[in-house]
Amino acid sequence: MRPSLLSPDLSASAQLSLADVAEAKAAGFRSILCDRPDGEAVDQAVFAAIAGEAARLGLESRYVPIVSPSVIFPETVAAFRAAVSELPKPILAYCGSGKRVTLAAEAAGLTAAASSPARQQAESHDIVIVGGGAGGIAGASSMLARIPDLDIAIVEPADNHFYQPGWTLVGAGVFTPEQTRRTMKSVMPAGVKWIKDAIATFDPDAKQVVLASGAVLSYRKLVVAPGIKLDWAAVEGLVETLGSNDVTSNYRFDLAPYTSRLVERLRSGKALFTQPPMPIKCAGAPQKAMYLSCDAWRGRGLLKAINVEFLNAGTALFGAADYVPPLMNYVKTYGITLSFSHNLVKVDGPSKTAWFKRTGKDGDSEIVERKFDMLHVVPPQCAPDFIRSSPLAGQAGWVEVDQETLRHKRYPDIYSLGDAMSAPNPKTAAAVRKQAPIVAENLLSDLGRIRMDAPAVYDGYGACPLTVERGKIVMAEFGYGGKRIPTLPRWLIDDLKPSWLAWRLKKDLLPIIYWDGMLKGREWLVKPSHKRAA
Ligand code: FAD
Repeated sequence: MRPSLLSPDLSASAQLSLADVAEAKAAGFRSILCDRPDGEAVDQAVFAAIAGEAARLGLESRYVPIVSPSVIFPETVAAFRAAVSELPKPILAYCGSGKRVTLAAEAAGLTAAASSPARQQAESHDIVIVGGGAGGIAGASSMLARIPDLDIAIVEPADNHFYQPGWTLVGAGVFTPEQTRRTMKSVMPAGVKWIKDAIATFDPDAKQVVLASGAVLSYRKLVVAPGIKLDWAAVEGLVETLGSNDVTSNYRFDLAPYTSRLVERLRSGKALFTQPPMPIKCAGAPQKAMYLSCDAWRGRGLLKAINVEFLNAGTALFGAADYVPPLMNYVKTYGITLSFSHNLVKVDGPSKTAWFKRTGKDGDSEIVERKFDMLHVVPPQCAPDFIRSSPLAGQAGWVEVDQETLRHKRYPDIYSLGDAMSAPNPKTAAAVRKQAPIVAENLLSDLGRIRMDAPAVYDGYGACPLTVERGKIVMAEFGYGGKRIPTLPRWLIDDLKPSWLAWRLKKDLLPIIYWDGMLKGREWLVKPSHKRAA
């Protein structure tokens, strides 16, 4: 943490970590002001976590999110000014880079240099990609595999890239966390310019994006792949207790090992596993955590003493109906209680209590209470804030694409892939593997860099390897409408039956296919198909 002094009462900093809060306290700051919207980067500590740590250390805190440095609305400036006037001083204010804090302080007349800086000259690239996650890196690599001399910039604020499908196995003690993390620098394709910043706003009519630092980028083609927002703060009390009081989640890199420790520690009592409303990334992951935990307890002869309940906001065990019978076999074997239409709304860690909104058939609802000895939470999920509030969003907040070509419905120079877009496919890395070559071909054809008679089309493919026990997987692979699309022949892997080979595939082969295949533009078994011209 290296804050810059804006006035005797106010300093600006880049994103804080929890450790930085203690450092701020030691440096004499008396309050923390957060100006960065939650969910902007995959490795960003959310405000509630920072606020919890600040409270623990006796510091005050406040949240005044500033989405865009280029347009800071008068209400935001007023809220910023009020926060600075009311919080105990000195105040440490932070955003992604410190830039938005500085601009807000200048707009509020709180710094010596209270004049607006000149808007920077736009930097220009043929292709700008939003996000260096699975979709951003795979998309860039698929394009470069076709045309190596492309001018591509990837905007990505995080230092690390994560193989998130591995977190289920971290939660089961099969992988170490480090097996799922690499530096962002190491996965950036050669020849791509990495701009370590975050997109704040889109101006699709001007073919420009504005970054959190205030810089402006112009593009000929834009690819949007910022992933999904994990809305931890939407469940009251959750952020404060996650990682302690036996409350865990495989949806966070740092918490997945805690799942494994809790499973090892629990010998009897009540274990709850939750699933929020759809869509979420990897719809099978809530169940995967549960089955692997049950299998571990069964192996140690403890399962009979542990009462396991699956509290699911939806009304079905799994979206693709064909896979429900094999999963139900495991539900029965493990003696799991299924509670549908139960949506987690509140947690109190110290008293080991969770509350759910239970919705009845006629739409009536009530709050029901459960005590727990272990709670595995999958957080509510939605499109990132800067997407939802942008002109790119459709009604539900996702980037609004044509579900076959993945081209934006209203802005033909924009494509999107991965979790942030509107197509109704299973939101998985496996889906991204199929989408990346499709986006690459359609976009390069638009630019006149390759020739195609008909556009490449996406069938909605995604895969969800359901880890039903340690050593066995039901390999669900399906597309639009839940239609089964198995990759391998049935004699090798019968997708409706638990398979040892599918487990080996998930554990040994899929990580290699991810790191050395899709992130490098090697498109094993995912060559795009093309629509015949009508
Ligand atoms: P991500 O890979 O999440 O990347 C998004 C990137 O965008 C991040 O690096 C982020 O920092 C960046 N970003 C965010 N905001 C901005 C901004 N404003 N400007 C610039 N960049 C930004 N998939 C499977 O196929 N199989 C599985 O078994 C599986 N299991 C899973 C289990 C768990 C517990 C989890 C959490 C996920 C699992 N997935 C699985 C899902 C898979 O990981 C995601 O679907 C996939 O990573 C989506 O890719 P993406 O590029 O859309 O998003």
